Amino acid sequence: MNTDPEGIAEENRERYHVRDWGNGYFSVNSKGHLCVLPEKREDGPTIDFLEVIEEIKNLNISFPTVIRFHDILRSQVRLLNTTFRAAIEECEYQGQFFGVYPVKVNQMREVVEEIIDAGQPFDYGLEAGSKPELLAALAHNANRNALTVLNGYKDEDYIRLALLGRRLGRKIIIVVESFSEIALIIRVAKELGVEPMIGFRAKLAAHGSGRWAGASGEKGKFGLSCGELLRAVDLLKEHGMVHCIKLLHFHVGSQIPDIRFIKEAITEAGRIFVDLVALGLPLEYFDVGGGLGIDYDGSRSAGESSRNYTLEEYAFDIIDGLQIICDQAGVAHPHIVSESGRFVTAHHSCVITNVIDNIHQLSEVPCPGREAGEHNLLSAMRASAEDLNERNFQEIFNDVQQCKDDAISAFRFGVISISERARIETLYWSTLARIQKIVEEQPFVPEELQRLGELQASQYLCNFSIFQSAADSWAIGQLLPIMPVMRLDERPDVRCSLVDITCDSDGKIDRFIAKRGVEKTLLLHSLKADEEYYIGLFLTGAYQDVMGDMHNLFGRLNEVHIYGDDDDPNDFYIEEMIKGSSAQQVLTTMQYNPEIMARTIKKEIDQQVHQGWIQPREGVRLVDFYENCLADYTYLK
Ligand SMILES: *Cc1c(COP(=O)(O)O)cnc(C)c1O
Repeated sequence: MNTDPEGIAEENRERYHVRDWGNGYFSVNSKGHLCVLPEKREDGPTIDFLEVIEEIKNLNISFPTVIRFHDILRSQVRLLNTTFRAAIEECEYQGQFFGVYPVKVNQMREVVEEIIDAGQPFDYGLEAGSKPELLAALAHNANRNALTVLNGYKDEDYIRLALLGRRLGRKIIIVVESFSEIALIIRVAKELGVEPMIGFRAKLAAHGSGRWAGASGEKGKFGLSCGELLRAVDLLKEHGMVHCIKLLHFHVGSQIPDIRFIKEAITEAGRIFVDLVALGLPLEYFDVGGGLGIDYDGSRSAGESSRNYTLEEYAFDIIDGLQIICDQAGVAHPHIVSESGRFVTAHHSCVITNVIDNIHQLSEVPCPGREAGEHNLLSAMRASAEDLNERNFQEIFNDVQQCKDDAISAFRFGVISISERARIETLYWSTLARIQKIVEEQPFVPEELQRLGELQASQYLCNFSIFQSAADSWAIGQLLPIMPVMRLDERPDVRCSLVDITCDSDGKIDRFIAKRGVEKTLLLHSLKADEEYYIGLFLTGAYQDVMGDMHNLFGRLNEVHIYGDDDDPNDFYIEEMIKGSSAQQVLTTMQYNPEIMARTIKKEIDQQVHQGWIQPREGVRLVDFYENCLADYTYLK
């Protein structure tokens, strides 16, 4: 076995699939620390996670913390735009690329601002799907050459806001999601005397696989069927507004794993496009929506947490597919719009948390040798444990299983005592651990014994809430890369699953990325008494970041924003930090009044002081303590 740290670091890089999901942004350095390569170059700046953690501690920021790497965000925006531009050039396609970032994927102001700034040279715009998002898009996308695409169901105010944007000279396109919106748009536009830019969302028959495929197909909740599209054109013709129809849109769902489905959708939507142009519509934009996937598990497959294509192939297939249809129909190539959100944001943020405890079955109760009068079950368990060898491990496994079950029954009937039961259980678990060691060396493992590792897995208690920080992992079983950010020059030796600090039995992660498919446990390092152990959940920048909830009143996490800087000795600086929720903030959203709560406690303490049960000095300290806890971070210290 390899023992030099460099060799083990390489082993760990493989074990945690860093190259597969890291997309070139993550690596392991010679100190055995995970690091970020903002420029995707090993010889460029490298940001060491442990140095970031050190600085976070110096700033007195507690864990768990969200860490955002703004360079990665900028890099992904550039990558998306330059790749589409390159594909357009290669195909000699006549239209241009105008991407928009869908705000719902990560609405944080800092994220949206960074994306707008990085996208400025490409006239990269925004997509909004609700009134609050539209309010944000109006204020933040001031580039008159960039698009603002408006999806989602709309009311009158939504349309008024869009037309307000038109009066500011913005390219704001209202995408019609349902037929009834057309009459509303016509009425409000006439009333205000403002010319709208209108898009149609087509409901495609194509529907793919993948977790979010429900957004598409004939039963999808959004978009106009072919019949509705034609009626919509007639209605706008009647009102002399056909010239306002600028864009055809479709969105077949997020995280599309299989490129075949994207090609199918392009073909179908492309056919709709050229037929609508033939009807005399002045369409200028072809909007392919979102769906560009992320390879979360690094398998490059059509599995749900992966994708079987690259960004280059995605861009090429869209442009090439549309070009062929337009050329056949003799229709000018439209500008291409994409609404990729997951692709832009997923990599830039992660959650770093500390492991608080190892919860495992093996509580070491001393088991001295045979004592006079001890129960037969205990003697039998000890005998089995002592007999174990490489030939009889299956027999012993059966014996100790039986013996443990009998012991529990015996305990229930009052035949053995709590201390006898504890000893039997200690012997049982330690024997299983030894059987597991033997099993690992066997060429053939009986089925019963294959799950032995899982059975004995530890649970690492982590200082975070899955409902807040990994919502998709809990709700829909999405896989996220999870790994330690330190000690990567040591071989990990503890099989474990992760549990969070919420009081919810669902608050656990027991599905991890494996070479083939999914594993129920993850190998981590054993905890040291004198050193914090930090692990990270990665690729959390899309959706997860903003979907957190108030389960157990933990609320939002502390956040630090990191920029790479070649001139800095550590290659980075913390540009900003945002405090997570305090207890009083989350309580207030649930209609509690922390001021009254503090006053109530103070009153009671005063009474106790008055009656002499609490010393006055002590009373003041208790009141202060309660108030400080209200003002403090919700997670464990
Ligand atoms: C959610 C959504 C997107 C973003 O999709 P991704 O797969 O995250 O790129 C784009 N367009 C519309 C209409 C959406 O609803």
